[in-house]
Amino acid sequence: EWIEMDDILTSAIKKVSLKATEKKIAILLQPSHDHPMIYVDAIRLEQIMINLIENAIRYSEPETNVDVYIQVHRNRLKVFIKDQGMGIPKEDIPFIFERFYRVEKSRSRASGGTGLGLAIVKNLVELLGGEIELNSASGEGTLFTLSFSIDQKVRADK
Ligand code: ATP
Ligand code: MG
Repeated sequence: EWIEMDDILTSAIKKVSLKATEKKIAILLQPSHDHPMIYVDAIRLEQIMINLIENAIRYSEPETNVDVYIQVHRNRLKVFIKDQGMGIPKEDIPFIFERFYRVEKSRSRASGGTGLGLAIVKNLVELLGGEIELNSASGEGTLFTLSFSIDQKVRADK
């Protein structure tokens, strides 16, 4: 269906708000009201956002922020999820979307999780015809960028 990215993000943030509050992490959604709607499956899109924001919370220290913002570039709507957490070492980045892959097993085991989240995210993003990228370095936080075509519906109808 046609969705408003703001609404999806607001709903995803609400669903992880308890985890964020427990860790004193503020999830800051930058308001953006002038972006176009896109045509995607709302449930799957929300699942992607929940997974990424949950990771941002889990792999950050208390009292840090997670910034979430939307931008339009040419014919694409982009969502940025940026944390101030531990980051992902360069050598792990190529494997990070693989099932069960986790950085430094001991560190990860202590923080719960199974290593499936990003594999699911990658699959869902592909299913929705979107793209996902990440920029990260050890100790420097992580930025996930999602992008979706604004004319997706138009193309799908051709
Ligand atoms: P699950 O999501 O299944 O509960 P998980 O969070 O360990 O478990 P993924 O979401 O697939 O699994 O993430 C894989 C690994 O990537 C994590 O274990 C963690 O080491 C690293 N990672 C993911 N997101 C971040 C992030 N925002 N900052 C730092 N490391 C991250
Ligand atoms: Mg995860």
